[in-house]
Amino acid sequence: MDDCSQVAGIISDIQRFAVHDGPGIRTTVFLKGCPMRCLWCHNPEARSNESQLAFYANKCIDCGLCAAACPNGAILSGDRRVDRERCCVCGACADACPSGALELIGRVATAAQVLDVVMRDLPYYKISDGGVTMSGGEPLYQHSFSIFLLRAFMERGLHTAVDTCGLAPWERLAEIAGLTNLFLYDIKAADPEKHARFCGTDNAIVLQNARRLAETGAKIIFRVPLIPGYNDSAEDIRLVGEFILSLPGDQRLEFVPYHRIGKGKYEALGLDYPLPHIGAPQNLDECKRALLSAGVKLVTG
Ligand code: SF4
Ligand code: SF4
Repeated sequence: MDDCSQVAGIISDIQRFAVHDGPGIRTTVFLKGCPMRCLWCHNPEARSNESQLAFYANKCIDCGLCAAACPNGAILSGDRRVDRERCCVCGACADACPSGALELIGRVATAAQVLDVVMRDLPYYKISDGGVTMSGGEPLYQHSFSIFLLRAFMERGLHTAVDTCGLAPWERLAEIAGLTNLFLYDIKAADPEKHARFCGTDNAIVLQNARRLAETGAKIIFRVPLIPGYNDSAEDIRLVGEFILSLPGDQRLEFVPYHRIGKGKYEALGLDYPLPHIGAPQNLDECKRALLSAGVKLVTG
């Protein structure tokens, strides 16, 4: 039997009091690593499964302590601050920084450490019908760690949700399904060509897994990130609706409106923001009306 202090994974964050990752008040565990590369990703720090160094220029007080701490001479002056060619992501500069301008994102955490944080808010889960959500990145990317955690959460009587992009071997998803009360399942685009172009991978496995999961009777909320000009045309919405209606069971869908909250994270990681030109008004109400009139059930409230 594995011990909680022996099993570990790499996480980018644990957020307490989350209210958009499933029902009630929840704690969301963000695991690092994702097989997709969606242009609109708002968690770029969770895509790689390795540690990354972030620099927040607005927090820097220019004290120079990072340069003194760096063993590789990788600290520059100015807004860029980090020479990413030289940086080995050791984190010494982040430890030395007094203002939080440098942050090492991605740390190895044992299941015991994750459980310690998650169990702190048990009273809030109880009064709100909340629980814990595994997110990322893609929780199935660190499959064994996710399985271990989900089993531990269930043994403690917690409601569990898994936020997934669906791109994983079916056997992994099936195993997770036995340990999960709710899936938050992303459909980025029903059109395979658009999916490949915008997310870096074909959607055949995603759609196939969604169908197989629905056939098991698993509780699922399908989520469509609505990106103006990318996946919100009348035809895009019609295809998504057609797919949802073709699934067995009482399936529901919710739209996740586009936002630019992740933009600052790209800058902090030294990455270009991939969608700088989006500014068109959201087509949300029109998309909802189109699906409702086609008979698709939407998540409300
Ligand atoms: S993470 Fe390490 S190598 Fe990279 S800039 Fe900081 S101290 Fe230097
Ligand atoms: S240690 Fe932190 S606050 Fe000081 S110069 Fe480096 S990044 Fe800026």
